[in-house]
Amino acid sequence: MADSPVELPGRLAILPFRNKVLLPGAIVRIRCTNPSSVKLVEQELWQKEEKGLIGVLPVRDLEAGAVGSLLSPGVGSDSGEGSSKAGVSPVETSKQDTKNGKEPIHWHSKGVAARALHLSRGVEKPSGRVTYIVVLEGLCRFSVQELSTRGSYHVARVSRLDMTKTELEQAEQDPDLIALSRQFKATAMELISVLEQKQKTVSRTKVLLDTVPVYRLADIFVASFEISFEEQLSMLDSVDLKVRLSKATELVDRHLQSILVAEKITQKVEGQLSKSQKEFLLRQQMRAIKEELGDNDDDEDDVVALERKMQNAGMPANIWKHAQRELRRLRKMQPQQPGYSSSRAYLELLADLPWQKVSEERELDLRAAKESLDWDHYGLTKVKQRIIEYLAVRKLKPDARGPVLCFVGPPGVGKTSLASSIAKALNRKFIRISLGGVKDEADIRGHRRTYIGSMPGRLIDGLKRVSVSNPVMLLDEIDKTGSDVRGDPASALLEVLDPEQNKTFNDHYLNVPFDLSKVIFVATANRMQPIPPPLLDRMEVIELPGYTPEEKLKIAMKHLIPRVLEQHGLSSAYLQIPEAMVKLIIERYTREAGVRNLERNLAALARAAAVKVAEQANTLRLGKEIQPITTTLLDSRLADGGEVEMEVIPMGHDISNTYENPSPMIVDEAMLEKVLGPPRFDDREAADRVASPGVSVGLVWTSFGGEVQFVEATAMVGKGDLHLTGQLGDVIKESAQLALTWVRARAADLNLSPTSDINLLESRDIHIHFPAGAVPKDGPSAGVTLVTSLVSLFSNRKVRADTAMTGEMTLRGLVLPVGGVKDKIHIWMCILIRIQSSWEMCRHFHWDSLPYLFIEIMHRWGTKLGGPLVCYSVVSLGVWNLFQAKYS
Ligand code: ADP
Repeated sequence: MADSPVELPGRLAILPFRNKVLLPGAIVRIRCTNPSSVKLVEQELWQKEEKGLIGVLPVRDLEAGAVGSLLSPGVGSDSGEGSSKAGVSPVETSKQDTKNGKEPIHWHSKGVAARALHLSRGVEKPSGRVTYIVVLEGLCRFSVQELSTRGSYHVARVSRLDMTKTELEQAEQDPDLIALSRQFKATAMELISVLEQKQKTVSRTKVLLDTVPVYRLADIFVASFEISFEEQLSMLDSVDLKVRLSKATELVDRHLQSILVAEKITQKVEGQLSKSQKEFLLRQQMRAIKEELGDNDDDEDDVVALERKMQNAGMPANIWKHAQRELRRLRKMQPQQPGYSSSRAYLELLADLPWQKVSEERELDLRAAKESLDWDHYGLTKVKQRIIEYLAVRKLKPDARGPVLCFVGPPGVGKTSLASSIAKALNRKFIRISLGGVKDEADIRGHRRTYIGSMPGRLIDGLKRVSVSNPVMLLDEIDKTGSDVRGDPASALLEVLDPEQNKTFNDHYLNVPFDLSKVIFVATANRMQPIPPPLLDRMEVIELPGYTPEEKLKIAMKHLIPRVLEQHGLSSAYLQIPEAMVKLIIERYTREAGVRNLERNLAALARAAAVKVAEQANTLRLGKEIQPITTTLLDSRLADGGEVEMEVIPMGHDISNTYENPSPMIVDEAMLEKVLGPPRFDDREAADRVASPGVSVGLVWTSFGGEVQFVEATAMVGKGDLHLTGQLGDVIKESAQLALTWVRARAADLNLSPTSDINLLESRDIHIHFPAGAVPKDGPSAGVTLVTSLVSLFSNRKVRADTAMTGEMTLRGLVLPVGGVKDKIHIWMCILIRIQSSWEMCRHFHWDSLPYLFIEIMHRWGTKLGGPLVCYSVVSLGVWNLFQAKYS
């Protein structure tokens, strides 16, 4: 398109463009339907031989946004016949046509002369309306001098705005313009190259860039963008070349940026869609690269290591086959795949399990085993004897299916430490599996691998940890397993403990049989009753009753104190705990069947001593260092400004000796109070509590050993009701009913009422309370205690403070044999010793004969119940002394 300036006539018919601008160089196709536009086209273009020019003038709507399509030029508003003078000014003006109240028309002051490139006429069918389709090319800018009407359309007197050829040539020399046009071309070029990647037709535009003068190019480029009407107008108004170029550069650049941003967003979305595919490809490539480099580590290498570990695990043939199948599956998986880690964990377990590995059993030396048992445990003669027998059988017949030993006793009596002694004697590894609170069968047998987060059961997990197949395995607290909807762990244990079945123990997670027959099982329990009979049947129960205070004293002196001192880095050179103080600890700070609290209290003393010893060591060291400073040699050195030398301890010199405490710390009562606090169990407790009628002292047995249980009864005005409080269970409530009935029935015999026809409960209520109301209580053994308390209440006589009682009573007044006797008596002895201060008493007593003795008391005296003797048909010091004389 050559640049040949157009001859612009003085007057031009004006075709209004509503909210659109035709820029020079742009070509548009419009369809005229509006009568005035049709008229204009008809008269100015269609009917003329030589097609002239028409002016295209933008018209602005008052309401924004009513932008008509280029194909519907009917948007141009008609102005009426009346002339409307245009006082045109160089700035944008508005010329209003308010005729007939029509909406005002805002004519723009500048327009573009256009040439019709193509014309076609059409007649709309039903209405017979004439329409024209015109293709117009914008040629040059003009400004409107005056606007008037010719018939139904407008004409304007116009003046040319574009420069003449010579003016242009001059302007082109302007260096500013040169720079601007260069910048514009560069931006335009960039835009073209971006567009080129998308559509090939752009190459034609590229040719334009070289042939068309730059100021025309600016119009052509901008005309092809979709920009706002305002921007189009301002482009039209940019008559000055520099302004036009910089405006066009800005618009082209903006268009370019918007294309780039859009492209970026599309790429991003596409990228996200194929991210996983891309990742897969990249991984494949990485693997290939690594293979090429011989650098194949990571997962691949891990799997090889796993396979090697599995080969070394010594699995039986059938399990090895199963493991290999699983390994093949693992190899096919990607590490990110969901099943990968669980499959891997499973194979790791298979590789870690001790299929073949055993700890070497050395030739069993029974004497050494006995010594070791004696060394670790005081007393327990019978238990130790049974353990030695057990070991002897194993020595003679190593694969004998010996019974499973089950130690039953209160906490802290040495069940765990006995089991670990067995392991030590057999030179096997020891593993403790806690079954306390296990309610789910899956805890023993594992979860099937189909569950998320499935794990092997505790047994298989324990074997993996201990990594030998023949450990001594302690099933701790076997009585604490419960059963609920999730299955019965005890029945799973049945299989474990059955020598016939445990050869092929099937863990759900493992899913292949594992041989447990080489494991030596030992169980512990606090009580026998909760253990299900079939399970109990598989075990040999060895009872460990609590220790007497005297035994506790011996254990403390011989075992606990040396062990505690050693654990705290002390020795008898630093701390000495005299026997008398240990007795005090047993009496005042512990009330337990075992020795765990005793050990804890001793440890507290050792800790306190350790602090003191450490502090003394510090001051001692300081003392040593200070000494040389006072020497004249050092004084002079200091005066010289020389450095202080450290004292060098000669080789072979025992450092600990340097800080040796010359006088060991000896625990006394004051230190006891300081470290352990005030005594926790008061001596006169029982005596004080039974100071009024209606209170009696009972002995009960819990899984922690014996306990003293007070019973308080009181009467008040009422209707003969019985109130019971203290968190009581049904059995104990029935015992209370029974006791009351029995006392009421024997009221006359017991001298509680003058005649048998008097109602003891006449217009009064009885309230019985078991103190420590927050602790739930149940069990039948409070029978005699309840009777005693009621008899005491009705007879208004106090119960002996040094007498405690226990035993279930029948309605006829028989006392049934009593359980947990040794524990009950221990606890009462502890209290009695405090009351009587006669520690010596229990020293000569044969504790083993006591249960029989006790039951005899119950039977002898219990059958004679019916007289006031009921209060004494229980263990009391008096009765005990009586029988001691008889039996010793
Ligand atoms: P349990 O398993 O019965 O609850 P432990 O075996 O854990 O009790 O024993 C608790 C502590 O008491 C251990 O330190 C143990 O060595 C010690 N102990 C218990 N009985 C004796 C005893 N007869 N001789 C020496 N120490 C004992």
